[in-house]
Amino acid sequence: MSRKGRVTAVDLELSEEQAAVKALAREFVDREVAPHAAEWDRAESVDRGIVKKLGTLGFLGLTLGEEYGGSGGDHLAYCLVTEELGRGDSAVRGIVSVSLGLVAKSIAHWGSDRQKRAWLPRLTSGEALGCFGLTEPGTGSDAANLTTRAVRDGDAYVITGSKMFITNGTWADVVLLFARTGGEGHRGVSAFLVPLDTPGLTRREVHGKLGLRGQATAELILDAVRVPADAMLGPEGKGFSVAMSALAKGRMSVAAGCVGIAQACLEAATEYAGQREQFGAPIARHQLVQEMLADIAVDVDAARLLTWRVADLIDRGQPFATESSVAKLFASEAAVRCANNALQVFGGYGYIDEFPAGKLLRDARVMTLYEGTSQIHKLLIGRALTGVSAF
Ligand code: FAD
Repeated sequence: MSRKGRVTAVDLELSEEQAAVKALAREFVDREVAPHAAEWDRAESVDRGIVKKLGTLGFLGLTLGEEYGGSGGDHLAYCLVTEELGRGDSAVRGIVSVSLGLVAKSIAHWGSDRQKRAWLPRLTSGEALGCFGLTEPGTGSDAANLTTRAVRDGDAYVITGSKMFITNGTWADVVLLFARTGGEGHRGVSAFLVPLDTPGLTRREVHGKLGLRGQATAELILDAVRVPADAMLGPEGKGFSVAMSALAKGRMSVAAGCVGIAQACLEAATEYAGQREQFGAPIARHQLVQEMLADIAVDVDAARLLTWRVADLIDRGQPFATESSVAKLFASEAAVRCANNALQVFGGYGYIDEFPAGKLLRDARVMTLYEGTSQIHKLLIGRALTGVSAF
């Protein structure tokens, strides 16, 4: 479908820089990611060398300034790269969304000069990897009630507790960790940058995931982990604001990854429908197959436009949190619908892992769960509409 023309605020024609970064990402994904996605899925691990390659291409430093090794670029460029990575393999896309989107960008926004110098050049080059430790075994959607505790002891904090489902967790060098330094509720939470080799911190890989099987997901256990007081990121008691500001932009990145999944469904299903013959003709000739392809195409365009709107709002310095929830909710549900439709177009072959539809469906499914479940985003949108919190 045509990408030319304008609607209200979003310029749908890419600038030269945006088109160049998209082309770079597309070529990289077609050469280095997509051909290995099925094999990494079966092996339950993407090739770890991919992290350094992502850094070398500047994808781990997008939107960050050059003084800390960033490669610049606006948020639409970030969406374009994220979409391409999601088209190739969501497990690879997640590495960038977490290490850059949740960790490095939080350090750039909230960090002291010392924290920025210590971590940003390493994170943007891919020499180090970040992970984001908010969820705990007992608190997911209700993250403000987390129980991991950091107790002040002289010029240090001693942290005890555990974190669950941490993306990049077994590979990462630093965790942006949220722990309670004060009383109950979100005002008692502070953020810390904790190197993962700190004594007392152990990690266990989470096996048996339905999708994102190539991604290193871990449980982190902290037993009296001692960090210097200046490991705190942002002011004491502002940790929940650090987490929420990271997630508001992070949700745009998840939405862009979902657009990538949906685009992969469109490309794979359209190609297959042109080749597979039944009843003496390519199945693309059958109207009900065209209906499935059309449904996928409409979802792709709608999800992409909602996601680009968020990037446009961020780049123009406008409020974007509710629009980010709208994009993430729609794009994640759309990715599941598209993958389900693609699987149906492939028929029985969609059900075996020689073909891509099954993996796309398994990878899409988690997008409706993390960085706020679909139900939580409906509550956030409902609160913005009515002014009444239904949490
Ligand atoms: P729960 O909060 O227990 O929810 C269970 C169900 O109840 C859901 O359907 C939910 O929508 C519903 N529900 C809960 N409260 C309400 C309500 N008030 N109204 C209506 N419905 C409600 N976390 C991190 O911190 N860092 C990561 O890097 C990370 N990566 C992840 C990677 C994977 C593969 C997965 C599966 C999870 C990851 N998570 C991560 C955790 C993820 O963010 C949580 O799983 C998510 O927030 C949901 O929490 P929960 O699993 O505890 O579900």
